[in-house]
Amino acid sequence: MDIFEKCYADDYIKEMIRNGQYPYFLPLSENEGNVASYKGKKLIMCGSNNYLGLTTHPKVREAAIEAIRKYGTSCTGSRYLNGSIELHETLEHEIADFVGKKAALVFSTGMQVNLGTISALIGRGDYAVLDKDSHASIYDGVKLSYGKLERFSHNDMDHLERVLQSIPEDAGKMIIVDGLFSMEGDLAPLDLLVPIAKRYGARLMVDDAHGIGVTGGGHGTSAQFGLTDEVDLIMSTFSKSFASLGGFIAGDTDVVQYIKHHARSMIFSASIQPASTAAALAALRIMVAEPEWNAKLIHNGEKMRKGFRDLGFNIGNSVTPIIPILIGDNDKTFEMAQGLFENGVFVNSVISPATPPGRQLLRTSYMATHTEEQLDQVLDTFKVVGKKVGLI
Ligand code: PMP
Repeated sequence: MDIFEKCYADDYIKEMIRNGQYPYFLPLSENEGNVASYKGKKLIMCGSNNYLGLTTHPKVREAAIEAIRKYGTSCTGSRYLNGSIELHETLEHEIADFVGKKAALVFSTGMQVNLGTISALIGRGDYAVLDKDSHASIYDGVKLSYGKLERFSHNDMDHLERVLQSIPEDAGKMIIVDGLFSMEGDLAPLDLLVPIAKRYGARLMVDDAHGIGVTGGGHGTSAQFGLTDEVDLIMSTFSKSFASLGGFIAGDTDVVQYIKHHARSMIFSASIQPASTAAALAALRIMVAEPEWNAKLIHNGEKMRKGFRDLGFNIGNSVTPIIPILIGDNDKTFEMAQGLFENGVFVNSVISPATPPGRQLLRTSYMATHTEEQLDQVLDTFKVVGKKVGLI
């Protein structure tokens, strides 16, 4: 049996490429945040995680350039050995303050935060209890651990309780959920999760990759629920609102110290580069000093949810600027995405098998820097294409 056989076989990806419908890995020639170009065609960007629009903020650009001047282009090693710089620690202190935790630890990507943190904490005989819709990096973190994986239906607290009841009472347990779910823009019910975790002696970790900068006035989903002290661990990434690359875990000092010495994805990988560290720090300081970006983002999200509902689109349970357009069919999803693209709007197609059958959707997300005119144009385009495709 040749392990390459599967690579040569025909599959849905090859079929999409043949049909000219392949919407992934499109190399943009320009990206100014709210507007991007593909082969010279201008597109209103409604498919990025640049929620606050800070990738083009002059202070963020300048901070990254300045860090390269001071530290060069790379730290050329692990945080553990030669790869730590003062900027990492400054960022960790300011992040911990911002999310309301005692300590924080930065990693080179958010994926690595989840891989390293979860595999360090979930040991033999322990259980990781995940919302089924948890991000892939959370699942992979559990796979790398010696513990067991249990799942509950998305945001279904009765199911969570049944799962917890089935786990031996004295086993170590950690419930892990996304704070703001990245595909459908809904929130984990932390007000219900916190008392359940307490009742069953489980720790609670919230992946707020999409929440920080967006929910809780920017401080995240735990802050939105007023439960920062009750959530044991908060992780996030710098690749979204922080306009950079990297990620962090925040929690009690001893727990973060333990992760620092056991997270293999941090210890055995080079540290976050100076430019990315400085960009994340500059973005964080803008979040603190200029809360109007968050206010504008929330306003834009509200405007678009109302706009889509008024047009008759199904936007599920979104309560944030991440707004899914639920379609439930691969072909219609592509047809819609293609129509939008041709008319100058960039969105993300999420189809089966990436999503359960019946849950195919266009993932749209809005930014603080989108103008009213751009958003009105997006709604007008959705109206025209949605009618043509027969969605509304
Ligand atoms: N968690 C969630 C919920 C995410 O959406 C992502 C990124 N898509 C990550 C973790 C990983 O973050 P990064 O891009 O920094 O690797």
